[in-house]
Amino acid sequence: MAIDHGLTIMLFALLGLAFGSAANVVIARLPRWLDHRFRTIPQGHGAPSGPRSQCPVCLQPLTVSELVPILSYVRQRGRCRHCNATISWRYPLVELMGAAWFVMCLWHAPTTPLIALMWGLWGIVLLVMAWVDATTYWLPDVLTLPFLGAGLALSAFGATDISWRDSLIGAGLGWGVLAIVGWFYRWRTQRIGLGGGDMKLLAGFGAWLGWIPLPWLLLFASLTGAIFGVLTLARFRRKKGGEVPIPFGPFLALAALLVLLHRWGTFGSQ
Ligand SMILES: [Zn+2]
Repeated sequence: MAIDHGLTIMLFALLGLAFGSAANVVIARLPRWLDHRFRTIPQGHGAPSGPRSQCPVCLQPLTVSELVPILSYVRQRGRCRHCNATISWRYPLVELMGAAWFVMCLWHAPTTPLIALMWGLWGIVLLVMAWVDATTYWLPDVLTLPFLGAGLALSAFGATDISWRDSLIGAGLGWGVLAIVGWFYRWRTQRIGLGGGDMKLLAGFGAWLGWIPLPWLLLFASLTGAIFGVLTLARFRRKKGGEVPIPFGPFLALAALLVLLHRWGTFGSQ
């Protein structure tokens, strides 16, 4: 898409910052809202569950000037203004990723800014799911099921350049493949290896991207996940040993992102 307007780019960058900021709130609070097990996670891993944004350490409510994406972090040099506690680097990182992704969508997504906006939000939801899974080993239904539903509905309306048939087959295949793998693993080892959230997430990717890229997506996610697993296990064994769960969601999300960028021709002509 040709961009003849610097203003549109600015607008998308600001939208990305704003949605990145919202993503931070969801990443920090959703696990606590949904499940009491996460309410006692020590500070640094999430804000308190109160209605207003607070410093997770001193619980001081934050003012508007402390909630400006990036700027507040830079001006306060990454520290709470009240208790001087370090603010997680996740906050500026997620905001910057949101802005970069939104501009990327405007640049590369085919057709209209509205479609670019849709993929922008798609990426934000992806980021939230990946981050929540990476930190809590949990992909909540409240994220994966609306993601799946939106993929099916928007494909039916022709917003995702795949047919509703491909979308439906993709959803079924994504769910089915991982359900079979999970069942097989449980049968062989008497343990649960794959979370139900992984199946719903892959079903969602099938709904958004169609069934055709699913084998590549799954292969890439499995390979990167396995490499990461081997590296983490090696490091962890040296420390204390024992089992280390590897979240699969972030690797699925990364693979889906690459599939989408490939489709847009980001890596060169197809
Ligand atoms: Zn504080």
